[in-house]
Amino acid sequence: MEDKLSARLDQLNHDYYLDCDFATRVIHAGEHFGEFGAHSHNSPIYQTSTFSFKSAKHGSDVFSGREEGYMYTRLGNPTVKVLEAKMNAIEGREVKLRSPETRVSSLVFSSGMAAASAAIMACAKAGDTVLIDEALYGCTTHFCCEVLPQYGVTSIELDTSDLGAVEAALGRYPKARALLFETPANPTMKITDITAVSRLAHRVNPELCVIVDNTFATPYLQNPLALGADLVFHSTTKYLCGHGTVVGGVVTTNNDRIKDRLYILIKDLGHSPSPFDTWLVNQGLKTLALRMERHCSNAMTLATFLEKHPKVSVVRYPGLEHFPYHRLAKEQMRGFGGMIAFDLKGGYDAGVRLMDNVRLFTLAVSLGCVDSLIQHPASMTHAVVPKDKREKAGITDGLVRISVGVEHVDDLITDLTQALAKV
Ligand SMILES: *Cc1c(COP(=O)(O)O)cnc(C)c1O
Repeated sequence: MEDKLSARLDQLNHDYYLDCDFATRVIHAGEHFGEFGAHSHNSPIYQTSTFSFKSAKHGSDVFSGREEGYMYTRLGNPTVKVLEAKMNAIEGREVKLRSPETRVSSLVFSSGMAAASAAIMACAKAGDTVLIDEALYGCTTHFCCEVLPQYGVTSIELDTSDLGAVEAALGRYPKARALLFETPANPTMKITDITAVSRLAHRVNPELCVIVDNTFATPYLQNPLALGADLVFHSTTKYLCGHGTVVGGVVTTNNDRIKDRLYILIKDLGHSPSPFDTWLVNQGLKTLALRMERHCSNAMTLATFLEKHPKVSVVRYPGLEHFPYHRLAKEQMRGFGGMIAFDLKGGYDAGVRLMDNVRLFTLAVSLGCVDSLIQHPASMTHAVVPKDKREKAGITDGLVRISVGVEHVDDLITDLTQALAKV
């Protein structure tokens, strides 16, 4: 009786959601009900470092791969499997619609940086070159330009939003193993054309791995694999978890060879996530569709408000019509996201004063939380970058970045109004 019930529930769960909408898939995918006849409504947390075997034969069957099972949490854990299934269901479905025989795999990491570094290491070995966008998350740039050379891998920086520059770099480095970019990029919101860049790269070398850091957009707004990329990763710390409670990462790829290498890196470098953290991401992910709708609509309202404000010069938000990448964003994204950057006419001091006068916005780095965050790159995240290099990357003294939360937008406007009045 119990077995029948659980078989029926499992079947419902595994077959039915695949054809449903994103909002439904992300809630139902991968959920399982635990054991011992207790059909837990939420997938249990397997907070354990190791797993016991029923017999010597069972142990040997699991270790040899003759039987599916779990051995040790660094090598795999049922709570982590739920997140892998959810990511496959939301990234893989768009891929399947375009190419029905393609399957995707996801692997969960202890941080976004663990995911980013493993993604590149899975593609490149000593003697290889990788092409990277010049505006990446700071630690990703540092890893590529300072750490990788110690292991014989060369990183070449370029502006991937400039297709001419991409073509030129591919011409100069036709054997490059990977091409990595973020879109929208941090913090300038620059957009790279995923379809065009993937096409150019694969024309030169079908084996070249196009890697997209999709942290800002999320799978709800953008599916790079469906647009031609080979590997997509997210810092789950941000929107996927959504509540600022976890540091984590996830990679999804349609390339089985790269997937196998990524698994070895998790196993041998210890990039595996904590079951509890992964469970929190699983819970957060269930409301991703709802949250992104609100992030997007709040951000559009705030961007329009800021654009008209006398103390603001430029607003960078992909949803604004005059934004240089607006048309491209409209083509490759289903919405414009929750991140806005804007320039204060008063420069550095104005930025500092704004930070000190907001009441509702939290003065913090990171992004993608339910609450709104604000930061001033020139005095905070990018303070160590020399001013000329910073300005060349579009990070001016007066640039402010906000991660728009899901509060009521009127309260956010009220807070910015009072804080800008003191600038
Ligand atoms: C935060 C972030 C990362 C790094 O993720 P962690 O979870 O902090 O390791 C990478 N890329 C982008 C775009 C990010 O915002």
